[in-house]
Amino acid sequence: PPPSKISPFFAISFFILRAKIGFFQLRIREKCEKITTFAPNMKTFAELGLCEELLQAIEEQGYEHPMPVQEEVIPWLLSQDTPNVDLIALAQTGTGKTAAYGLPVLEKLRSVEARGPKALILSPTRELCLQIADDLEGFSKHMPSLRILAVYGGANIEPQIRALKAGVDIIVATPGRLLDLMKRGVAQLSNISHVVLDEADEMLNMGFVKDVTKIIEATPKERNLVLFSATMHQEVLTIAWKYQ
Ligand code: AMP
Repeated sequence: PPPSKISPFFAISFFILRAKIGFFQLRIREKCEKITTFAPNMKTFAELGLCEELLQAIEEQGYEHPMPVQEEVIPWLLSQDTPNVDLIALAQTGTGKTAAYGLPVLEKLRSVEARGPKALILSPTRELCLQIADDLEGFSKHMPSLRILAVYGGANIEPQIRALKAGVDIIVATPGRLLDLMKRGVAQLSNISHVVLDEADEMLNMGFVKDVTKIIEATPKERNLVLFSATMHQEVLTIAWKYQ
C-alpha cells in the first residue's frame, strides 16, 4: 500500500498545538515559581504600633509575625483611648491570646504613673495564672519599672500579701484568692483601668460567676473590659452585656 501521507494541514495544526502546549507549560512553570516564592503579606509587630521595648522583647521571644488574633486585637486595643471600651474575642489557648491582650495592656501602662494596680487579669486556674504572669514578665523585660504579680489559691497567702503591699502594676489572679485579698484590704482595685477575663467561659463553668461579678464591680466604672473565651456561653454574654 502507498505510504500514508501526513496532510500539510494536519502537520501545521500539530505544530501549532505543540507550540501552544509549550507556551502553557512555560506559564504553568512561571506560576508555580511565583507560588513557591510567594511571601504572604504578613504584618510585623512594629506595624501594629508597639513601642521599642516591647518589640525588642518580642524579638527575643522568637516571635516573627503576629498571629491572627494578635493582628486583629492589638491595633484595636491600642487605638481605644476612651475608657469603658469592651471587647469579646473568641480565642482558644494556643492561638496567641495572651500576647493579644498583654502587649496592648503593657503598652498602655507604660506612660501611666499612678501608683497601685492598674490592670487586672483573671484566670480560672493557678496554672494559667502563672503562665500569663510569666508571659507578661517576658514581654515587659525591657520595662523594668513595671511590676507583675500572680496571686492564686492553693499557695501561702503571706508572700502574696507582702508583694501587694510593696506595690504592683498588674495583678494576674484566680478569682477566689483575689477576693480573699480584697477582703483583707491588701488588693486595691480603685485604680484599675484594664480588666481582662481570660478563658471567661471556663471561669464561669467552674462556678466563679459571683466572684467575677464582685471583682468587676470593685473596679472603677471607667475601665476597659476584655473577655477572651473559647465559646460564647450565655453567661459570658451576660457579663459582657451587664458591664458594657
Ligand atoms: P497562648 O494562646 O497565649 O497561650 O499562646 C500559645 C503559644 O504561642 C505560646 O507558647 C506563645 O509563646 C506562642 N506565641 C504567641 N504569639 C506568637 C507569635 N506571634 N509567634 C510565635 N509564637 C507565638
